[in-house]
Amino acid sequence: MSYTVVNKDELENSGSTSEFEGYLHGDTDVSFILVDMQPGRDPVGETSATPTRTSTGCAFSGKIELLARQMEADAVFHVECPACLAVREIHPKGDSVMFSWHIKRVTTTPHHGKRWVRRGNIWELAD
Ligand SMILES: [Zn+2]
Repeated sequence: MSYTVVNKDELENSGSTSEFEGYLHGDTDVSFILVDMQPGRDPVGETSATPTRTSTGCAFSGKIELLARQMEADAVFHVECPACLAVREIHPKGDSVMFSWHIKRVTTTPHHGKRWVRRGNIWELAD
């Protein structure tokens, strides 16, 4: 393994980008471009006439590792979202439990009452 240290000034600069071409720096076959720009502003929302949405969907949804028979054994059907702490009541069909799409919970006030919470990869009952 050999290393080449390159000054940014030695790169081919054009505006806010710097280009490194390997063949100009000895026996290297890599090339890369450095970009030094402000992140672009999101054009959606700037031009949209609709009001800004204050609540967004949570990324956590779909089948979870909790089993329906675990829920039935304890007769607890409330499940807490591990991402946003929203609690949903789920009555599974079959043995797989689906956590349905939901609006992201914005408060972090702890819940009370029996519910399933995920700790690591294991779903446990919590009060
Ligand atoms: Zn959630």
